[in-house]
Order: sequence, then C-alpha cells, then structure tokens
Amino acid sequence: MFKKAKYFNNYRTACSLMIDDFVPVAVTYDGQVLPNNDWGYGKLNKNSLFDYLNSTLFLKYPEIKGTFFVPFESQFYLPKDSGMKYRVGQFDTSYLDFFNHYKDQFDIAFHGIKHTYYSDDSIHGNPIFEFHELGLRDYQMLRDKIAHFEALFDNRFTGGKFPGYFRKNKESFELLVKLGFKWWAFSLADNKIAQNNFDTIHVGKNDTLIDMPSNLNGNVFNHEITYSQEGSILRNVRNIKRIKRQVDLVKYIAYLYKNRLPITIQEHAQNQSLNGKRQRPNLYDDINSLDKIFGLLRGKDIWYVSCGELAQYYDAYSNTKLIETEDSLELIYEGSWEPYPVSIYSDTCSKLLLNGQEILGLIKDGKYVFNNLLPNNYKKY
Ligand SMILES: [Zn+2]
Repeated sequence: MFKKAKYFNNYRTACSLMIDDFVPVAVTYDGQVLPNNDWGYGKLNKNSLFDYLNSTLFLKYPEIKGTFFVPFESQFYLPKDSGMKYRVGQFDTSYLDFFNHYKDQFDIAFHGIKHTYYSDDSIHGNPIFEFHELGLRDYQMLRDKIAHFEALFDNRFTGGKFPGYFRKNKESFELLVKLGFKWWAFSLADNKIAQNNFDTIHVGKNDTLIDMPSNLNGNVFNHEITYSQEGSILRNVRNIKRIKRQVDLVKYIAYLYKNRLPITIQEHAQNQSLNGKRQRPNLYDDINSLDKIFGLLRGKDIWYVSCGELAQYYDAYSNTKLIETEDSLELIYEGSWEPYPVSIYSDTCSKLLLNGQEILGLIKDGKYVFNNLLPNNYKKY
C-alpha cells in the first residue's frame, strides 16, 4: 500500500529559519556599519550582518534554509527625533544580487510596506502596526507595491506575516485572500509543549490559506549559566531554574521532531526597535543560541526548506488524492494552487512506471520512497 509522505522524501520533519525585518538600514552611533548594528544595509559587504553570518552560522550549517520576511519601505518611517544615526539604503537592483546569492537557501515573503511607524514621526507618538490600519480599501495600493517588488526581486510573493503577528483588524484576512496569498505565518508558539496548532494547517473558509506556524524562538538558548566560586544561594537558584528551562527546551525541540511538527525558527535581521531597545530575537545576539539549535538538529532526519516551498508541498500533500489498484497508482490534485510534486512511499513496491520510464524507489528506513511525483497515472512494477 502506498501512502503520501507528510514531508518531502518522507523526512521526519522540516526546518525553516524565518528571518523577519530584513531592511536596508543600519543604526549606528559612530557612523560605522558592523554586524551588530546592520539590519541589511550592508548587504554582503565586509562587516555586514550577512557577511558575518556567512562566515559563522551559514558556514557551519550549510544545510540551513528559510525565508526572508521583507517590509518594502519601512526604512522611510523611522522616527526623526530618536537621536540615532541611521544609514538608510533603498531596495534596488543591488538587492536582486543579494537575494540571488541566497536563492537556493532562502525565499522572500511579504512583511508589510511600512511595518511600524509612529503617529507623528516622533518617538513620543504612538507606535502603529500597519495592518491595524490597512483594509480592503488599500487593496490596489498593496497589489501595485507587491507587483513592483515582485519585478525588482524576481520573486513571486506567495506568503508572508503581519508586522507584529497579531496586530491586524477584521478585514485583514479577507485582504490577504484577495491579494492572492497562499500561506501566512499567523501563529506564534510559546516554546513549550502544548496541545494545539503547531502544525502546518489550512485555515479560513474553504481552507483558503495555509498557516505556517513559528514554533521556536531563535534566542531560546541565550540564557547563560553563571558560575562563581562562592556561589550565592540566589545565583544558584537562578542557575537551577535556567538549567531546568534549557532541559525543557531540548525536550520541546525533541517533541516537535517526534510529532513531525515543523521546526520553524523565528528570528529578526533588524536588531533594534524604533524606541532604541534591542530587538529580541535577533540573528546577531542569538548566534550561540542558533548554534545550539542547529547543533541539536544535526544528523536528524530533517528537510531544510524555505517557508514558501514547505507551504507549497503541504498544499500538494493535503490536496492530492491517491487511488491505488492492484497494478496502478493514480495521483489527482484537487487543490487551488498549481499542481506540485509530492513524495509517496510503500513497504513493498520498489518500482513505478510512467510512460514506459522506470522510477526506482529510494530505500529509506525500510521503505521505498518516491519523490517528485506529479499528478499522473503510474503503473506498479
Ligand atoms: Zn517584523
């Protein structure tokens, strides 16, 4: 009997690094752009954030894949009276080179136009998350901006995330559907074992959108255990709590893995909030925590993938019907996206035939796995 594989190649689960707020800005006190104050302004130049990541995290873990969540114009809405020195760039064709550099690792998703701004451009105003304000009347403006950036980045925006996750209004969902998005990162998990909705699921009337949950915060292992010779009682109590928390987090990651829930890791490129506070999580501060997370995942049966590809596979997996007879196997796609290849597996059948061509199943964990099968009529062989 054939079954559909929940993940490509029947991997146990999938892992995706979600990098929010990739913005052409660096905030600096002395004019210098360094990895700790760069949000994307430095692109791949020396001492940029991504130059640093290329020679640390991405060098050590070349398997990492994921998604950039990009606000298109948030660099123009920085408060004017913060006293901070901004280096502000613009998304232009040079960013096409940047994204092309990561094409095989990261795709690009939509993360608003302005992201967040202050009511009167002043840090003393009220911060406004733009999807509190954006409604169906803004459809055409959004459609035009998205089309512009699709051309500029040579990318089709199939999904995204609201700035500030839950900061939205009652028209937001309909607006996303109207804009043609297929998936959206709605849910933010609490980094501990819980009952509900950590999985990739369809949401909305007629299952219109796929919810891509953010299941793990990139900074979870940042809390260092502190040692001292004398060791005050208070410090030891704090250490014990931190050790327990770390054990719980390792268990939580094992829980996601065991239950085949996607290990989607929430991060930011922008490392500072508009009010001058450090933004958490952020890639630069979390380098050790991310090292620990990807170290724990090393050698496991994991599909490293971008959010867009994971969503598209999930859509194909859940909307492809599998009809098996004694000598044939038919795959029929019944979803609303375009047909996309799925993986299937069998305990006994090791070969399929399509138009006279043999397809050999890969032997994996005692099963035969067939990857990249489009809807078609296959002969069992
Ligand atoms: Zn954001």
